[in-house]
Order: sequence, then structure tokens, then C-alpha cells
Amino acid sequence: SLGSPTTKLANSHHSAHLARIMRPQVIIIGRPNVGKSTLFNRLVGKRLALVDDQPGVTRDRRVGQASIANMEFDVIDTAGWEDEDAASLPGRMRKQTEASLEGADAVLFVIDSRAGVTPLDEEIARYLRTNDVPVVMVANKAEGKEGDSGILETYALGFGEPAPISAEHGEGIAELFEGLWPVIGAKAEEAAHTPPTTEELSDEELLAQPLKLAIVGRPNAGKSTLINRMLGEDRLLTGPEAGITRDSIAVDWEWKDPATGDVREIRLIDTAGMRKKRNVTEKLEKMSVADAKRAVDFAEVVVLLLDATQGLEHQDLKIASMAIEEGRALIVAINKWDIAEDASSLFNGIRFALEEGLSQVHGMPLFAVSALTGKGIDQMLGAAFEIRETWSKRVPTGALNRWFDDALIANPPPAPKGRRIKLRYITQAGTRPPRFVVFGTRLDALPTSYERYLVNGIRRELGFQAVPVRVVLKSPK
Ligand code: GDP
Ligand code: GDP
Repeated sequence: SLGSPTTKLANSHHSAHLARIMRPQVIIIGRPNVGKSTLFNRLVGKRLALVDDQPGVTRDRRVGQASIANMEFDVIDTAGWEDEDAASLPGRMRKQTEASLEGADAVLFVIDSRAGVTPLDEEIARYLRTNDVPVVMVANKAEGKEGDSGILETYALGFGEPAPISAEHGEGIAELFEGLWPVIGAKAEEAAHTPPTTEELSDEELLAQPLKLAIVGRPNAGKSTLINRMLGEDRLLTGPEAGITRDSIAVDWEWKDPATGDVREIRLIDTAGMRKKRNVTEKLEKMSVADAKRAVDFAEVVVLLLDATQGLEHQDLKIASMAIEEGRALIVAINKWDIAEDASSLFNGIRFALEEGLSQVHGMPLFAVSALTGKGIDQMLGAAFEIRETWSKRVPTGALNRWFDDALIANPPPAPKGRRIKLRYITQAGTRPPRFVVFGTRLDALPTSYERYLVNGIRRELGFQAVPVRVVLKSPK
């Protein structure tokens, strides 16, 4: 266990947090298909950061850092809170929107100018009028002439002159700036003059940061149910509608470890999972794979959630391999344990298949959980913090060299064609995941079996069980 963060660490975390809070928060709202995601991507470009920093405040939002000209702000996407046919969901959609309006500095209310103002637009407008957050009207899909009448109609919604834009073609961004500047300009200026906070963090400071955890797995494994269970409230939409959480969503929360009594911060990423092609349209498939990959990119520890009623499938191994190849610490949890049949042989079978299928990692933590009853979840989270420590660990140079010397004596490198391969020394080049460099000569003649011997030794003897370990061979120049 890590214990509580020291005062110094808590303070540095706190000041970083204050600086980020000061960026204006702009939330994109609108009915499905008006182009919210397109606008979000347009504003954020490649700088998507699934980060929302209010410790203790839980949220589920897709947040990106946006800028128009020099005006910097955080933009929050609400797309993916509804399904394509959201007609059946407006109530639930509204609940999510309400939560997200708290703390927002401006709303970008998007309509489709080609479709004109629809009854659902009017309903959203009525709702926004009952709120204090300033609204900037956006008439999207306004390229060409087809949108002209729709642009006029939006005046009737009562939020003043709309910014006619084309999110898809990147037109009208200057108009958008003019609409937003009077609302958030002053705050954006202030934030811009706050010193940057992304200084390099030490190993110790990194471990004091919230644990970045991604839950990945096939659709219906129970990811959303698990997250709801952990948060103890109905925060993410769950239900029979496939693909309801279309995008990744970041959620900050605090978890009390019942084993130690410590309260620890966790930042969760939920993904829509990786759907098989035959189940969904091509478009959704592409989005969700990219999405799961992004969640893994973001995470320190990845939980692969399996469904006890389905067992381990090829696709699960693919997701797991992807996470390991990206260098993440991986935990596997078998969900729906409450309805598992023949439990012990199921558990052992999955453990065996994982060891066989994922040769890069040994002794991966495996848990039986139930998102429905809560069984096993605390143990799984405790293990997630532990494996992050292993993943972040630095071996003292002395211990590393002693192990290396012993390993070479116990099993000297071979001497192909009578010339011995010389391995001179080893150093740990990095952590998260642990990386080592071995220096020597004639290294291209070193058999891969010997490399494996070294990697396995590092894992077993130096305490890097269950995390990916990377070893690079180098000849000094
Ligand atoms: P959301 O559900 O509101 O997030 O909408 P999306 O961003 O997914 O966009 C819905 C559809 O509208 C997609 O097919 C987009 O390609 C399309 N779209 C988005 N912006 C524009 C635009 O400026 N012009 C046109 N013609 N189509 C757009
Ligand atoms: P996701 O697609 O991975 O987010 O899966 P969901 O969270 O939407 O869950 C899919 C279905 O499995 C829902 O009907 C859940 O009620 C059900 N489910 C999830 N976790 C459990 C569990 O631990 N036990 C049982 N019996 N059902 C579960």
C-alpha cells in the first residue's frame, strides 16, 4: 500500500488542479446528428485529452482542449449520451445534460440548419432558458445555400444571432469566435496568463496522482454496470440499447480501500467496447476500436472485463495483446460471477488460456467479480493500485547489477563460432512500463532464447511479475 500522499505532493497536485479549472468550460449541446462530435473534433483537433480535473467530483464527459485564434477553452462533448434514435431517450439524455451544465461557462447550442428547427430543438431551447448558463447559438451544416432558411428560423429560439458554421468543412469558425468571445473571453485571457502546470513529475508524484484506469471488453461484458456499481450511482447509461456509450467517458471518483481504510483517487475511462463488425455499422465499428485504443493510451492500468457466461474469446485476447503491446499493466476480471456455471473450472480454464495466449506476461492478476452484487471489485481495485506500483518501479543500480552478474554466471551467453558474446552491463532506462538496456558486443548473434532468459529473470528475480518488461540490446559506439 502507498499510504496517504504527503502534504507536499497534495499541494502540488492541488495547484495544478486550480490552474486547469480556470480555463473556461464550454459544453456542446444539441439533438443527435446535428454535428456535435464533428464540431468537437474540429475544435479540439488532435489534442484530445480525456481529462477533467476536479478531485472528488465525479463526472462523465468527453473533454478536449480547444482554441480559436488565441482563445483557449475546454470543450465538452455530450454526443454519445444518446443513441441514434434518441426519441426513446430524451429523459435520460436530459439527466446527463443537467449534470454537465453545472460549472459550464457557455453552451454551444447546435442545430442542423438544413433540417431547420425541430420540436426536439425547441424542447432543448426551453430547457436551456430555465438555466443560467449563457447560450451561443450555432447553426451547423451551413455550407452552401441549403441552410439559409434554417439559419433564419433559429432567431425564433430566442438566443440571438446564430453563428452559421460548417463543422465538417471548417467554415464559420470566426463567427463562432465572435459569439463566444463576449461570454468567455475574459476568463480565457486570465487562464492564458496562468503559468503552465505540466512540469515533469517524479516517480513518487506520479504514484500520488489519481490512478488512470480503463475498463475494456466486448459489448455486454458489463463495463457500464461495473462503473455504475463502483460509483454507487446511476451515472452512466446502461441498458439493452447496444452502443449507448458510443464514446469514451472520463469519470473522477474517490475509492475507499476497505483493506487499508485509505481514500484513493481513480480516474476511470469507460469505452463502448470493441464490437464485432457484423453487429454494427462500419462507422460505429471504426469509432469504437479507435475509442478503446484511446482509452488504453490514456490508462496506466487496463482492466479487461470478461463475461463469465461467454468465456474467453479470441477478441478478448486481441484486446489484451493490444494493451500489453502499448506497455500497459493489465488485469483481467471475469464478470457476472453471480451467474457463472461450474465456477472453479471456468476460472482455471481462463487462467490457463491467458497464460497460453499472452506469452509476453506471466502471472497476470485474475479476478472473479460481479458488477451486479459488488463481489470482488474492491480486491480488483486494490490489485490495480499494486500493479501500477510494480509498473512504475525502479530497481536500485546495485541490485540490478548483482542480479545481472549472477544471471550471466548461472547461464553464460553462448559462443557462436567460438567467439563469446560479451554482455557488459545493464541499466534501467525507464519505467511505466519498466525498460532495460543491456550493453555488450556481438549482440546480433545473441539468440532470442537468451533474451527471453534475461526478460524472465528480470520478471521473477526483480519483482516485475505481471507487467510488460522491455529489454533492448545495445553495443557501445
Ligand atoms: P452528433 O450526433 O450531433 O454528434 O453529430 P455528428 O458529429 O456525428 O454528425 C452527424 C452527421 O452530420 C455526420 O454524418 C456528419 O458528417 C454530418 N455533419 C457534421 N457537420 C456537418 C457540416 O458542417 N455539414 C454537413 N453537410 N454535414 C455535417
Ligand atoms: P457493457 O456493454 O460492457 O457496458 O455492458 P452493460 O454494463 O451494459 O451490461 C450488459 C448486460 O449485462 C446488462 O443487461 C447488465 O445488467 C448485465 N450485467 C452486467 N454485469 C452483470 C453481473 O455482474 N451479473 C449479471 N448477472 N449481469 C450483469
